[in-house]
Amino acid sequence: MSQKNVVILGSTGSIGINTLKVIDRYPERFRVIGLTAYNNIALLERQVRKFKPTHVAVGPRGLGRFRGQVNGVKVFDVDHDLEELVSLPEADIIIIGMRGGAALKPFLRAVRCGKRVAPANKEALVMAGHILMREARRHGATVIPIDSEQSAIFQCLQGQDRALLKKILLTASGGALRKVARSRFDRLTVKQILAHPRWKMGRKITVDSAFLMNKGFEVIEALRLFELDISQIEVVIHPEAIIHSMVAFCDGSVIAQLGITDMRLPIQYALSYPERLPTGLKDLNFFDLKQLNFDRPDLKKFPALALCMTAARKGGTLPSVLNAADEIAVEAFLEGRIPFTRIIELVERTLSRHRLVKDPTVEQILEADVWARQETLSGIQRKR
Ligand code: MG
Repeated sequence: MSQKNVVILGSTGSIGINTLKVIDRYPERFRVIGLTAYNNIALLERQVRKFKPTHVAVGPRGLGRFRGQVNGVKVFDVDHDLEELVSLPEADIIIIGMRGGAALKPFLRAVRCGKRVAPANKEALVMAGHILMREARRHGATVIPIDSEQSAIFQCLQGQDRALLKKILLTASGGALRKVARSRFDRLTVKQILAHPRWKMGRKITVDSAFLMNKGFEVIEALRLFELDISQIEVVIHPEAIIHSMVAFCDGSVIAQLGITDMRLPIQYALSYPERLPTGLKDLNFFDLKQLNFDRPDLKKFPALALCMTAARKGGTLPSVLNAADEIAVEAFLEGRIPFTRIIELVERTLSRHRLVKDPTVEQILEADVWARQETLSGIQRKR
C-alpha cells in the first residue's frame, strides 16, 4: 500500500474541509501536498500547520502574509498558478472542491497530466465536460466524481458492461420548495431559500437546489461524465435522499447506491478507489427509515430542469452560458437585488440571446461564459 499525494483545490470550503477529515483518519494512506484557498486565510493557515503541505495557493489578500511567514512551503497565486500546482509530478490525486468556472483550466491540465481527478465542482463539467472526458481518456486520467449522485452512478457501474446500461435514474431530494406553491415563490426571502432540508451546502448551490437548477446541472454533468444520450437519463424526486442514484440495465435490473447524507462517503471513495475503507460514520438503519418515497419532478413548477435538458441536448457553448447566467442571477438574488423568480427569467433571457457555437474550443467556451455574465448583468439592470 503506497501513500498517495493529494492536492485539494478549495481546501477551506465544505468539500475541502471534509476531504481533510477523511485524510486525517488515514494519514498512512494519504498525504496532503497542496492546499488552496481564496479568502479564508485564517483557516488555510491552520490547515497548513496541521497537514504540512509543500505547496499552497492563495488569493491576493493572503499572498504577502504567506510569503513572509510560512517557511518551507512554496506559495502560489490562486488566480494564475493552479495549472502548475495540479501538474506537480508527485501529485497523485487532485480534489476539485473550489467552485466556479475557474476550475476548468486546472481540471483540464490535471487530466492531461493523467492524474486521478475527483471533482465536486459542477461548473467545469457543465461547461466543458465532453472535452474534459475526451482528454481524460486520451491521457489515461481517471475521473472519479465526488458529487453524491455522480459518485453513486460511478459506483453502480463498477464491473458492468456499459453497453448493457439502459438508463440512469438521477435522484433529487426536491429542494426546499417541494411543498411550497409556485404562487408564493416571488415573496421568498434568501433566508427561507437557504433552509435546505437534506444536505448542508454552500449558499449558491443551496439556491440552485431550491429551484432544481442544481439538479439540471447534475443532469448535464452525468451526461458528460458517463458519456450518455439525453434519452438515457431520468430525474426521480426522492425526498429522503437515501438513494443517491440508480442505474437500470437492459434486463430490467436496477442497481442503486444508498447511504447516509454525508459528503465524507463519496470523498473517501474517490480517494480510496477501487478499495473501500471504514468511514467511522453511522450505518444506514432501515428499521428507522421504514419507507422511501418517489415522485416525478414538476417541470411546470421548476422550469430550470427542462431548461438544462434543452441546453444539454443542444450542447456546444449553451451549457456554459446557462451556468454563467445562473451564477450572476443567483448572486443578484443573494444580494437582495432581484426577487427569486427573476433568476430563471434572466437565465432564459440570456440563453435565448446566445449565438450557439456547435463544437467549441475551451477558449470559445470561456468566451461564451464572459459574454453570458455581461448579458445577464445588463438584463438585471433593465426593467422587467
Ligand atoms: Mg448532488
